[in-house]
Amino acid sequence: MLSTNCEFLSAEIMDVLRLFGAEEEDFTHVFLRYGDDFINTVTQGGRSVGYTFRQRAEGQLEYKRCAKRSAKLAFYEYLCERTGKSFPWGALTGIRPTKMAYAELAEGRDFAPLFKRFFVTEENTGIIRRVLASQRGIYDRNRGKGEDIFVSLPFCPTKCEYCSFITAPMPAVERYIDDYVDALVGEIESLKPVLTRINSVYIGGGTPFCLNNGQLTRIYAAINALNAGGAEFTVEAGRPDTFTDEKLAACKDAGVTRICVNPQSFSDGTLAKIGRRHTAAQTFAAYGMAAKYGFDINIDLIAGLADETEADFKRSLDAAIGLAPANITVHSLCLKSGSKLKEGTSRLDVSGIDGMIAYSRAALTSAGYEPYYLYRQKYQAGANENTGWCKAGKECAYNIDTMEEICSNIAVGAGAISKRVYGGGARIERLASPKDIPTYLAKVKDITAARGELFR
Ligand code: SF4
Repeated sequence: MLSTNCEFLSAEIMDVLRLFGAEEEDFTHVFLRYGDDFINTVTQGGRSVGYTFRQRAEGQLEYKRCAKRSAKLAFYEYLCERTGKSFPWGALTGIRPTKMAYAELAEGRDFAPLFKRFFVTEENTGIIRRVLASQRGIYDRNRGKGEDIFVSLPFCPTKCEYCSFITAPMPAVERYIDDYVDALVGEIESLKPVLTRINSVYIGGGTPFCLNNGQLTRIYAAINALNAGGAEFTVEAGRPDTFTDEKLAACKDAGVTRICVNPQSFSDGTLAKIGRRHTAAQTFAAYGMAAKYGFDINIDLIAGLADETEADFKRSLDAAIGLAPANITVHSLCLKSGSKLKEGTSRLDVSGIDGMIAYSRAALTSAGYEPYYLYRQKYQAGANENTGWCKAGKECAYNIDTMEEICSNIAVGAGAISKRVYGGGARIERLASPKDIPTYLAKVKDITAARGELFR
């Protein structure tokens, strides 16, 4: 248990304790500020160690930011010393590394010294530098301007064992889908008065291709009634076993530019273990069908799935690279509440995941991909990250805009969270829709009115 004289620091400290698996241990923490010195004393088992972080901080906001950083660093240093462990992102928890880098650059400073202070490896600092370089054109074009539109289709054929997302298995919700599409179309039509410039459209899942073609084309038509400028248009089609030529042709007719084929692994054994019904052969077939239409294709993979070895992961990544898609996204497995995996495991076996991430960086770089967005989640295996990689000029604007929160996101459907972004990210107001489908359907009029108000 953590006992501290400064409650507002406990969330930051707990993030670090979780990183080391020390959240159940007893610690006493005392914080005090003396001039420019932020002093944290960590006491455990009768031993006390003090850490001083020197930083000029003016104003209440800056003081709080420095205090949080100092507490996090004190616990990170203490636990590194005690356990002999260290992590590739050091004490950077609870903040997107790119956001921290952009904040430093906005102050006229390079971010490398701050990353070093947080014990981030030089290699990771270099990856962030590459991400920022890939983002430059889209970041400058969209920061503080226009909106992205997100359409939520939280339905899947079955639930994967690692999934904590709100998605509902189709058999349980099939009877609501037509009403759901009616509600979505109504929501989309209501957006017209508040749009200034559509930066991108993203129809996300779940597995959007769970819907039939008639339902999907109604959604595309509603979008196209708004999207006169032909902005980037992604359909995160999803699992390969839901792909049909008819659905892909409808995407092409509707002006969709980007499709996601999400196998997560090319190993049939792994796919069966994680509760998916498709095979690697179906992934190749789905990819071939989509490629015929000339879409930019993204392939999602996960490092650290169900007992996979480094060799298993390498085979999947090599298979994805062999298809030469525009984008490959490499996730590190996450152990989140709400997933079957979390119910059966308290801690992930992360052996091998560092090797998988290292291999993905080397192999994707040598195949001509650049990292273009990167984020980290709590409870991520090996304290690693998720990285979107792209071929030159194939960055997905939607992913950059939403990861960096540089422009407003207008989101429709169950579980969708709209964000009105002010000042290119200086302030954000949010509006969340109910996750449960019947509740969403019952409240859609209220949600539409509230969103109209938010973006008025
Ligand atoms: S396909 Fe994606 S959203 Fe659907 S259950 Fe699996 S992980 Fe969750």
